[in-house]
Amino acid sequence: MTSPILPVAARLDLAFEYGKGAWLYDQDGKAYLDFASGIAVNALGHCHPHLVRALKKQAGKIWHTSNTVRIPEGERLAQRLVDSTFAEVVYFANSGGEANEAAVKMARRRHAVAGRPERYRIVTFEGAFHGRTLAMIAATGHPPYIEGFGPKVEGFDQVRLDDWDALEAVVTDQTAALMIEPIQGEGGLRVVKTETLERLRRMCDERGMLLILDEVQSGVGRTGRFFAHEWSGIVPDIVTVAKGIGGGFPMGACLATRHAAEGMTLGTHGTTFGGNPLAMAVGNAVLDIVQDDAFLARVLNKAVLLRRQLKRVQRVYGRLVGELRGEGLLQGFCARGVEARDVVAALREQGLIALAARDNVVRFAPPLTVTAKEIADAGARLEAACGALTRGGRSSRAA
Ligand SMILES: *Cc1c(COP(=O)(O)O)cnc(C)c1O
Repeated sequence: MTSPILPVAARLDLAFEYGKGAWLYDQDGKAYLDFASGIAVNALGHCHPHLVRALKKQAGKIWHTSNTVRIPEGERLAQRLVDSTFAEVVYFANSGGEANEAAVKMARRRHAVAGRPERYRIVTFEGAFHGRTLAMIAATGHPPYIEGFGPKVEGFDQVRLDDWDALEAVVTDQTAALMIEPIQGEGGLRVVKTETLERLRRMCDERGMLLILDEVQSGVGRTGRFFAHEWSGIVPDIVTVAKGIGGGFPMGACLATRHAAEGMTLGTHGTTFGGNPLAMAVGNAVLDIVQDDAFLARVLNKAVLLRRQLKRVQRVYGRLVGELRGEGLLQGFCARGVEARDVVAALREQGLIALAARDNVVRFAPPLTVTAKEIADAGARLEAACGALTRGGRSSRAA
């Protein structure tokens, strides 16, 4: 197949025609239960009527104006985010990578305007994923993403999670900020402990560093709180979101305290598309549904059901299903004796869409609107896939 699409992504020969809730339908009408949500993006499932209405309504009014004028939908969304979180200011972007770029620029600028421009280094953690821009591949620190793209952007140091000696060694009076995902998504659903977040917060306070949390995957209700870090009680300086906040419409945001954002004055940063009226209308519609205690409580209940299904299948197929990982509706397991991507393929055969992550992890990120029945259905499909993999393993050994 010679496609004109740049072959940087491994694309399956599978195309979906339409989606509804947690279900996707391919061109032959075959139904798939979607526990990937376009990589934790379709937080409210496919074609949620409230989002479709909001987008259609805005599409008939105005699409784009640029940031040279006020955008009331964006002002409203920013105000709602500020009213409901630690943040005092919001910068809208188009993606997670861009939101993270804004966060890093903000942290560096914060120190520069305080007369410390040499304080520009950012510490990140092994297993991180912060995006694919030149700076964010340096922040991510994963060699396959960096090699061949010229000199790595300067100013990023990486240490192992919970290796406090290594962290002490790398933090200097040039360090501007620590940057971490409360749950490492692409890195393998590694949940950062509350004690770790507390200790990082203390360290930042003692050394005048900023704490940046990348909640691009873990945020917007995925753990049963609006932000995953809310479970820990710590107060960050900067938080980035994307993925779920647009429910499938591309958008991102960088939220911050006024103190952290002090350097981001007129003309220091910008974007053509960020915060455009279409994105803002959808973002507001997502918040209408997600920022509701009863909705978030239901997410938490469903997370328990998902964990129960994973445990149940693990009891039957412990040889395949190793350590359970993740939290909320971002959970999975370490595949044992088989490649995670082969498990994902076997799940697809059973009509269940899942994702692979690093550490050989099979990852599930169903829409937050998934039902208890659909979670039980997914468990049955996982069990069937494990059965098929086990039989396949036996016959290949016999051969
Ligand atoms: C997906 C992701 C990003 C990058 O987002 P893009 O929209 O692809 O740029 C950054 N951080 C985390 C934690 C992510 O999961």
